[in-house]
Amino acid sequence: MTDHAPTALRTHLCGQLRPEHIGQTVTVCGWVGRRREHGEHLAFIDLRDHTGLLQCVVDGAHDLRSEYVLRITGTVRPRPEGTVNAALATGEVEVGDCTVEILSEAEPPPFPLDDRAADVDETVRLRYRYVDIRRDAMQRNLRTRAQVNGAIRRAMDAQGFVEVETPMLIASTPEGARDFVVPSRHRPGTFYALPQSPQLFKQLCMVGGIDRYYQIARCFRDEDLRADRQFEFTQLDAEMSFASQDDVLQAITTAVSAASEAVTGRRVVDVPRITWHEAMGRFGSDKPDVRFGMELIELTDVFAETGFNAFKAPSIKGIRLEGGSEATSRSRLDDLTDQAKRWGAKGLVWMRVEQGDDGATTLSSPIAKFLSEAELAGIVERTGAQVGDLLFLVADEWLATCHVLGLLRLELGRPPVDEGGLQFLWVVDFPLFESIDAATGRPVPAHHPFTMPHDEDLHLLDDSDAEALLQVRSQAYDLVLNGWELGSGSVRIHRPDVQQRIFGLLGISDEEAQAKFGFLLDAFRYGAPPHAGFAFGIDRLVALLVGEENIREVIAFPKTQSGTDPLTKAPTAIDDDQLDELGLRLLPPPAS
Ligand code: ASP
Repeated sequence: MTDHAPTALRTHLCGQLRPEHIGQTVTVCGWVGRRREHGEHLAFIDLRDHTGLLQCVVDGAHDLRSEYVLRITGTVRPRPEGTVNAALATGEVEVGDCTVEILSEAEPPPFPLDDRAADVDETVRLRYRYVDIRRDAMQRNLRTRAQVNGAIRRAMDAQGFVEVETPMLIASTPEGARDFVVPSRHRPGTFYALPQSPQLFKQLCMVGGIDRYYQIARCFRDEDLRADRQFEFTQLDAEMSFASQDDVLQAITTAVSAASEAVTGRRVVDVPRITWHEAMGRFGSDKPDVRFGMELIELTDVFAETGFNAFKAPSIKGIRLEGGSEATSRSRLDDLTDQAKRWGAKGLVWMRVEQGDDGATTLSSPIAKFLSEAELAGIVERTGAQVGDLLFLVADEWLATCHVLGLLRLELGRPPVDEGGLQFLWVVDFPLFESIDAATGRPVPAHHPFTMPHDEDLHLLDDSDAEALLQVRSQAYDLVLNGWELGSGSVRIHRPDVQQRIFGLLGISDEEAQAKFGFLLDAFRYGAPPHAGFAFGIDRLVALLVGEENIREVIAFPKTQSGTDPLTKAPTAIDDDQLDELGLRLLPPPAS
């Protein structure tokens, strides 16, 4: 590998020096980490750059403070007997006979740059992000991210994908979120939108014969922020012509595998596939975390004849917390019940699995008295309940039952982010519509409106019955990693007749369709190849690869959870001249 260390100012990097360099005169540059006085005449300086720490023995008379930037020339020598530091890569050597040049003085750092920084308030870290980035953890995260980007680019190039840059100033793209808009100075009263994704442009690239497109694309969505979401985020965005779902899954798996290999040394092979219906039924989630079991157990038929009103429901399922009874107090059970109600459950039934006087397994629960012997025995048999376990049951519509138990499963069983390895999963056959909007009576698309329904389900589109529409499966798929949705994609509609039917169902009139994405529909009239694509979030992928819960830890300059940047103070007001130029007037701030 090329040695990138030497520059005009230095010969080596701090973390590079080893016993083999003993006797050499070297020049290193970096920041002052720890400083220890040794009598009046000597000081030990830990000089730090991105490769690590190096002990330099300097004249104690120098006034060298924390985070000063130094250039030190000296001779590499072994550390004296008994002072070798095995925990440090450079721990066998030090640099002596030092000439010190102060390149920059520094004010005391706003927080300590060692392990204690983890406890510093995040706003303070972001306010001084340039100092925060000097820390090992941030260096590792940002460098890993660069490796991931590089590996993905190489993998996509090797598969014949062409990197095409699509514009940042566009007309609004219908991806379901709110747009960030940019006022136009040249045409006052009009606005660009920042892309929620390059969706329509990549489809235009397919019409343009690019065949395989990719881009590491910045996307902007004005949504509520969470630990795994920022206003702007980065995706590997891809599209393929004359390709099926399988082709896309294969190409994306190759890219993700290359990223994983670059970071962990392990390739990702044979990512399992599961249908949306199975994912919901078994895990209660369309992004199942399969690092742990605790699957949902089907119980509906056990209560087919029940006299217990709360269990006269279309779907009853349960989960079993193995050995969980003793550790779960009554007040915790009450909390979980409240929590389940906040998730939309009508109620949550819990049962402690105990040993009766006669040695038989019994279920102790406030509702046990309402259930028949056969029903109780059915629960024990179906769940495989053992003495000491705790069971939870929910009865509701199928989707609601799955949803609540899925969240409960995560609450009770989810391992920490950095445990359980990397469990990738493809979820396929998503429903085309996720719900029916109560106000408009129209179906709400689960992905975007350009997603192709399953060929076998096309006939259901003619059905005006909402229930039938909710049964329509789409050729849409998600990539899931450890319970995080990494990304989604679909086979696109390239047939104008199908597209028109979907728009009709969604209540998008011809005029509206023409106004919003007429350019895409026009393009399709000039020869559109069948095409399919995908996009996955690089912030999320990198976070999981390095074991971070919060994507802000793998973004150089993120916004806080409230959407502000403590460093630049964005978003900021602009002055009246700028507003005038843009033809804008501000309303008074809303009364709070
Ligand atoms: N544009 C979609 C998204 O950003 C991905 C895709 O369908 O390719 O989620």
